[in-house]
Formats: sequence, structure tokens, C-alpha cells
Amino acid sequence: MSNFNGYLLEANLIGGQWVGADSGATTEITNPATGAVLGTVPEVGGAETERAIAAASAAFKSWSKTNLMERVGLLHKLHDALMDHQEDLAQLLTAEQGKPLFEARGEIAIGAAYVRWFAEEIRRNKGEIIPAPTNDKRLLVTHHPVGVVGMITPWNFPSSMLARKIAPALAAGCTVVAKPAPQTPYSGLAWGKLCQDVGFPDGVVNIVTGDAPAIGGAIMANKDVRKVTFTGSTGVGKLLLRQAADQVKKVSMELGGNAPFIVFDDADLDAAVEGAMIAKFRNMGQTCVCTNRFYVQAGIHDAFVAKLKEAIAAMKVGDGTEDGVVQGPLIDENAVKKVEGMIADAKAKGGEIVLGGARHALGQTFFEPTLITGATSEMSFSTDEIFGPLAAIYKFEDEEDAVAAANATDYGLAAYAYTKDLARAFRMNETLEYGMVGVNSGLITTVEAPFGGVKESGMGKEGGSQGLDDYLITKYTCVAGL
Ligand code: ADP
Repeated sequence: MSNFNGYLLEANLIGGQWVGADSGATTEITNPATGAVLGTVPEVGGAETERAIAAASAAFKSWSKTNLMERVGLLHKLHDALMDHQEDLAQLLTAEQGKPLFEARGEIAIGAAYVRWFAEEIRRNKGEIIPAPTNDKRLLVTHHPVGVVGMITPWNFPSSMLARKIAPALAAGCTVVAKPAPQTPYSGLAWGKLCQDVGFPDGVVNIVTGDAPAIGGAIMANKDVRKVTFTGSTGVGKLLLRQAADQVKKVSMELGGNAPFIVFDDADLDAAVEGAMIAKFRNMGQTCVCTNRFYVQAGIHDAFVAKLKEAIAAMKVGDGTEDGVVQGPLIDENAVKKVEGMIADAKAKGGEIVLGGARHALGQTFFEPTLITGATSEMSFSTDEIFGPLAAIYKFEDEEDAVAAANATDYGLAAYAYTKDLARAFRMNETLEYGMVGVNSGLITTVEAPFGGVKESGMGKEGGSQGLDDYLITKYTCVAGL
């Protein structure tokens, strides 16, 4: 399985050709669970990116005019190819990213589901005929593909983050220049092979790896790229927004989060703990919708902490390919250092480490799943994203205080609340300043629903019927003199 049945590709896809960097430079990619080198990828820069954009731009001329059912048919084939090769792709994903294999299989499946969803949604992307103010006119509203789309994606969902961008772009008739994250390029490059294998024309999908500022800079500076979609840190997102301003490029941004998870006294305790485990520890806590802050009401606090501790202690940590493992390694040393720093900060400010708190005996970047109580608003995870397996518990008395604390952040991606009170459930919908709210659910992402944040968590939606909007322009035509 050393090349994962041909899905580990050590080249970039530009205009239908698999190529290296002009300089011949490559970067080694390692498996975070073992430290073993998986292979290399080209280290490309601005010049290769320019060629990828030129290829996408040339392909857009014909691709944007293909029959709808041709695009739909290819997308259905792409869905099937993803599922036919789910196991190879999942093994590859775990090897470069570290998540447990069952989660990697799930990621490939949800990626495929996004492809199918957008193949279906584009058929229902209706325009409008608006009643005109006078009889001699007809007012039409139509949708058209935006053009070449630049895509920059992170390492935490190296396959499905691309799915949510590539699928609606191709459905809409756009062409693509994608840059996967440097830690996890192979899952991204595999999309190139899959698209090629099922018959997408050369140049429709281009994938480059290497120098992020150079590739990003070329994408942002090129007028042929009419839209940029980014998932990653708020810092890089803001940089890209500034760069986009020069050409008023259309942008969508899925940035950081700082998700609160509120457990009210009237919650179903077992359900809350089950939801908490998913919302906190999926992908070792490395998702932008992962819980950052647990607010637990005084009456249920001790029982919730006791049960959560039991559930955390039961998790098996190890190489994601091993049976029964639910927690793999963190992505890299920086991730470990960040969590260590947050734990030290919490300890110094009076937090109690109930469980874990240190690197795992397995070495590499494995970290002990950690539980801290007595969290306060002074601690660093109150404002900063943890992105690791650390659950911090804040105790509260009143609903109003909990909601105010939950909203006291610059972020606004996902929030969770557990309660059996129906009126309170609707108050959560109305008062939590977040793009997504899970009431009695710790896992809310699904292809049918619009994923996306408010405030500094970003703009634009992925998935749902709204997920197509970012890849289309809306045109109004007035036909007069009738
Ligand atoms: P993280 O901290 O989770 O790695 P980043 O925002 O740094 O998040 O990375 C997300 C994506 O943004 C990656 O593909 C990364 O290579 C890319 N990236 C980082 N810096 C830049 C930049 N200056 N221009 C364009 N892309 C960038």
C-alpha cells in the first residue's frame, strides 16, 4: 500500500499534465503518527501557479458552456469514484493527517456526498422572471458561473474541505486552481487524479503544492481568478481579504471558531456527554467547529464532569490505523506546543487538571486527552482557538450569563446547547451569535445545511442550497421595447 494504489501522487496537476516544480524542488511529507516519510511533493511558486491559472482560464471557455447534464453526469461519476476508492483514500488521509481510520472513511464519504448534493442542486438552480412595471418590458434574473476559482484549504479535513469547494464550482461551470495545505497535500492531489480518471477535461481542475505566500500571491494578483475560497486561520483569511480588495474579487472565508457548548441543568446528561465527546474530540479537537468552551450550569456541573471524565479516560490513543483507536496524533509540534501553553496558562490562573495535561507516552505528537475545570474568562482558551484535545469547563448559574459569556468572542462559527426546555431551545437559536447552532446535537455538519460563520469566523456558506451561490453571479437583464 506504499503508494495507496496509485492515489499518492508526487506531482502537481496543471492543464491535464502531472508535473514537478520548475526548479525541481520538492518537500517531504511525513506521517504524524510514526514520523515516517510518505513521499515528496513539488515545491512550486508563482510561475507554475500562473500556468495553472492560464490552463483554468482556457478551460473555462468551454467548460462553462457544457450541457448541464454533462456536468451532472461527470459529478455522479466522481461521487462513485470516491466511494469505489474510499478505503485507499481513507488510508492515505490517515497516513498524512493522523485521524482515526473510521473518521477518515467518514470524511471521504461526506466528500462524496457533497459531490452528489451539488450535482443535484445545480439542476434546481432556478432564475426568476420579475413582474415588470410596464407591459413593454420583461425582467429576467439568471445565474452564470463566476469564472476561475482559487481554492486554499487546511490540513484538518484535507479531502472534504476541497469537496465543499470543488463540487459546487464544477457544478456551476467554474474551473479550479486548488492549493491544499502543506502538511496534507496528498488527499488534495488525489482529487486531481479522480477528476481526471472520470473524464473532466484537461485544465478544469488544477492542483498545486508548495510556497503558500507565492501561490496565494499569484492567485490573488491574477485578474482571471474571479473568486477565491479559503478555509483556514483568521489571520491568513484577513490577509487574503486585503489582497482581494485590489480587484474586488468575490471571496468566501471559512475561518476560525471558538465554539461554546452550554449544558443546562435540565439537559439529558448522557446525551450531553455523548454530544460533548463528538463536539470536542473529533479529529483530536482539530476542527473549527470543535468545542472550545464548555459552560455547565451549577446543578448539573459535578455529574457532567464525572461522566465526561469517564468517557475521556476510555478513549484509546494511538496510530489511527490501529483497531479501536479514536484519538490519533496532533498534526505537528506547533499544535502540541499550543495546547501545552494553554494548559500552563490555565494552571497558573487556578484551573484544575482533572485528567491528562501532558504529552502522551506514545511520543511523536500524541497528546493526552485533557479535562480542566474551574475555567475563567482570563484563561487563554477563552479567546483563542485550542485546536487540540483539551476540554475546559466553566461553571455558570444563569442562562443570561452563559449566553453573554458564549457570545463574548470575536468568532461566530458553531455553538451547542443541551436543554429539554423547548422555549429555551428557541432562545438559543435567537440569542447565540453564531452561524450554526446545535441544540441537543454535537455533530451538525451535513451536506444539506449551510455551513459557515458570522463575525470574524468568515463569510459565505458551504453546503446547502446556499453553497452554490458563491460560485455563481446573478445577472439581471431587462428586455424592453416589446
Ligand atoms: P493553520 O494555522 O491551520 O495551518 P493556515 O491559515 O496557516 O492555517 O493554513 C490554511 C491554508 O492557508 C494552507 O493551505 C496554507 O498553506 C495557506 N496559507 C498560509 N499562508 C498563506 C498565504 N500567505 N497566502 C496564501 N495561503 C496561505
